[in-house]
Amino acid sequence: MAKIGIDLGTTNSLAVVYKDGTAVKVINSLDSYITPSAVSIDDDGKVLVGEAAKDRLISHPEVSASEFKRNMGQRYEVELKGVKYTPEELSSLILKKLKADSETFLGEPVEEAIISVPAYFDDNSRRATRIAADLSGLKVDRLINEPSAAALAYLEKNGYEDGTYMVIDFGGGTLDVSVVDVFDNIIEILSVAGNNGLGGKDFNEAIAKDFCGKNGLDYDALSLAERAVVYRASERAKIALSDMPMVMMEVPFESGKLMLTLTNQELISMSKTIFEGIREPVRKAIHDSRKKLENIDRIILVGGSCKMPTVREFIRQITGIVPDTSIDPDIAIAEGAAIFAAMKNKDLKDVVLTDICPFTLGIAVNNDILNDGSSMMSSIIPRNSTLPSSITRPYSASCNNQQKITLRVYQGENIHPEKNLFLGELNLTCPPTRFGAKICDVKMTYDINGILIVDVYTADGLAKTKAFRSNSSVLTEEEVEAMREKIEAAMLVSHEDERYRALIARAERVYEESFEDQRLALQRLLMVFRGSLDRRDPIKVQQSYKALSDLLDSLEY
Ligand code: ADP
Ligand code: MG
Repeated sequence: MAKIGIDLGTTNSLAVVYKDGTAVKVINSLDSYITPSAVSIDDDGKVLVGEAAKDRLISHPEVSASEFKRNMGQRYEVELKGVKYTPEELSSLILKKLKADSETFLGEPVEEAIISVPAYFDDNSRRATRIAADLSGLKVDRLINEPSAAALAYLEKNGYEDGTYMVIDFGGGTLDVSVVDVFDNIIEILSVAGNNGLGGKDFNEAIAKDFCGKNGLDYDALSLAERAVVYRASERAKIALSDMPMVMMEVPFESGKLMLTLTNQELISMSKTIFEGIREPVRKAIHDSRKKLENIDRIILVGGSCKMPTVREFIRQITGIVPDTSIDPDIAIAEGAAIFAAMKNKDLKDVVLTDICPFTLGIAVNNDILNDGSSMMSSIIPRNSTLPSSITRPYSASCNNQQKITLRVYQGENIHPEKNLFLGELNLTCPPTRFGAKICDVKMTYDINGILIVDVYTADGLAKTKAFRSNSSVLTEEEVEAMREKIEAAMLVSHEDERYRALIARAERVYEESFEDQRLALQRLLMVFRGSLDRRDPIKVQQSYKALSDLLDSLEY
């Protein structure tokens, strides 16, 4: 029974399996190893996942969803065809699809997986990911942090060498920078920083706006359909520029075809603010790791946007380090997850991966400097601490003859406690203490399960202990059970059927994006294809499939 590694991404997901000493990408039913993280409900209620669903985001937005990873672990729902879906459920449909594709690809059942999550995912989001796996029928005994997975893929390929690595993961809509330390087969994340609003989509938009501007159009004033065509053409141009110095963009418009050449140099000048956005997380990750740029031995690039030569060059400029290109940015994370799965199977030598606390934990204390009755955050477990973490700090009395202690526990980075997440309160009495003298020690212990234990020791010994959950929106058993029924009942379309439906979804999307003269031909071929499917005439299905996909290829060049 195979065990797979899964990169469950915001934009794209994929599965990799480690077999006979190498990582093998799972090819899905549409012959690609990348499955867009999109879900759509078809007319007959069946569930489409991946490329077809991504196309339907444009032609059928009201029954399609994407980017739900952003809301993992939050109380959030989207309604598709009258049914409400949580991020856990939508993610479980992606996982269900990856599981099914892996089983077809490998020709054997797949029941276990290692799934990657961002290092900054808090306990809520991690638990949500586990619930999603559980709903999809996958057993997950561990989640792996994305930067650790990338480092693992790098080490497996290049040899286990101790050192300090910077992992830059630049995806469709997020940038994550981490500093990872490798020592004696222990992979420890020292820091994470990022910008969850910066990614490949920003380049697409910059190109689209520039294209319109130079053609005398206002991108924001275009119709939704027009914008979608320009946007897609822009993304295609961007991707093409990763392999060639210049591309010709052609976009069909009502008034005729608009064209523009684009070079990497031009891409750089129109994307200045995007590039500048990479600088701060890189600086912060190094700062928080307590390392210096000189200590970074290697930069590992992950995520689709790191395939851009302009991005690589910018990273080289700001760090003075030539980023490593020995691993494929698209699959590094899934590969690392697959390697870790194989280790758990004892097929490979063991490494130890550590988790970090993505936020600061502390208590509110009197503001002695202002002495105005306001309070300040006093950090006990600083963010980026390796877990499990246990830290003790002494506190002094805030008034004379103090006999009562109230500890208000918070999670967050703001100096003003009230702007952070309040986790709870602990009250106790203590022997009378004069102002400024030590009144107690506060010990905080935080483990990888998201449970925070606070112990308070006063002059007469351990006075009180209390456990807190660092989360606010835990699902109940009943809610999970209701989800399970829903997901078990959800029917993914079958393998062959999916190819047909994906072609229809693509045709409908292109129809949406094209103009009257093209629409007629498209409509005709789409009707012929649908008709042949209805009549279940295999030869006609094949012929009309080819005719329609050829036309689509020509329309999308
Ligand atoms: P995520 O981690 O957000 O799920 P990915 O790592 O798959 O996403 O990155 C997706 C982004 O990468 C998209 O914006 C896509 O346009 C971009 N991308 C993919 N391939 C290339 C390429 N060859 N050149 C430039 N950008 C690319
Ligand atoms: Mg990713």
